[in-house]
Amino acid sequence: MSASPFRELCFGASHLLDRAESFLRHFMSKIAILIVSGGKGERLGGGKPKQYRLLAGEPILRRTVRAFAGWPIQVVIGAGHEADYAAATAGLALPPPALGGATRQESVKNGLEALAADSPDFVLIHDAARPLLTPALSARVIAALEAGADAAIPLLPVADTLRRENADGTWTAVLRDHTYRAQTPQGFRFTAILKAHRDFAAHDVTDDMALAERAGLKIVRVPGEETNMKITAQDDMHHAERLLAGATEYRTGTGLDAHRFKDGDHVWLCGVKIPHDHGLEGHSDADAGLHALTDAILGAIGAGDIGQHFPPTDERWRGASSDKFLAHAASLVADAGGAIVHCDVTLICERPKIGPHREAMRARIAEILGLDIGRVSVKATTTEGMGFTGRREGLAAQAAATVRMPA
Ligand code: MG
Repeated sequence: MSASPFRELCFGASHLLDRAESFLRHFMSKIAILIVSGGKGERLGGGKPKQYRLLAGEPILRRTVRAFAGWPIQVVIGAGHEADYAAATAGLALPPPALGGATRQESVKNGLEALAADSPDFVLIHDAARPLLTPALSARVIAALEAGADAAIPLLPVADTLRRENADGTWTAVLRDHTYRAQTPQGFRFTAILKAHRDFAAHDVTDDMALAERAGLKIVRVPGEETNMKITAQDDMHHAERLLAGATEYRTGTGLDAHRFKDGDHVWLCGVKIPHDHGLEGHSDADAGLHALTDAILGAIGAGDIGQHFPPTDERWRGASSDKFLAHAASLVADAGGAIVHCDVTLICERPKIGPHREAMRARIAEILGLDIGRVSVKATTTEGMGFTGRREGLAAQAAATVRMPA
């Protein structure tokens, strides 16, 4: 049978689509992100450079890196800040950091040299202390570069009246017209800005835009963002936290679980093995505490329940250690851009006694979830001899979890 005209048409179309895709890929620009995190940030105090301090519970640098998710990112850090950097970026896929120099200019140059081997078409250079930029701003900078600019700078007009203090103590009005605030990310044709940094390494400039001007590059301005503020002082931290609070919502989920006692010599509760005159019946390790908490976290993000994710009919989970279930729920929260803020487990049983194991349970849950122990609560109660827990037929657990999610 000969090929039908329809098939020929489809084949022709898919062939054309393949051609179009390779054509697009050929012209798709290669972009790299350079995050400058070399500053010492003494103005905020606290014994840590500001970019490693927590903003609404997350290191500033980590937020900044996450704002560029999906692009290759090179971070430049100050010498001696390796441990702070490792802690702030744990679990993020990043190459080793480049080491900064004595000035911002030197730090940027070191970062560009680290990127040179990848030969990107464009580089976006961004301050670590501006964690609140939106993807729309990066897109504007990239669009300007792809349209042919050597450099693209986000600028904002100045709203306040500006006054300059003179040496003799008098004041001069500075005309606001044609006055702008420069922000980052500042985007550049990679080879052009690398050459400018190499050629003018001996000249002191305040930012990469000044260097681009000196090198005679074609600079295009794009609208900046009021929320893309630079965090330098404590007031800025408060302002940024208020902005984030408006872009965040909190959700709470609850979970409940029960398991029946059986013959045995230990039980698992909240990830801790406790000697007991009975064991607990269950497909996995029957850790009712971790099961209730897993359901609470899944509930907070509307992701079903533990039975859907780990069916009791699945042989893979026979005798499984329940920390896997809890870690999976936590990874779903992280995948959705959220963070677990707090969790609270109540164990309901006459025996075993929970008190002696409470701190170990909190520590284990905190470890599985990557939380500070202060965010984990484990409580215990009895039902005064009533019901199945009162008759010691089994035990139960209930849990609540609070998660912070992008609104
Ligand atoms: Mg269970």
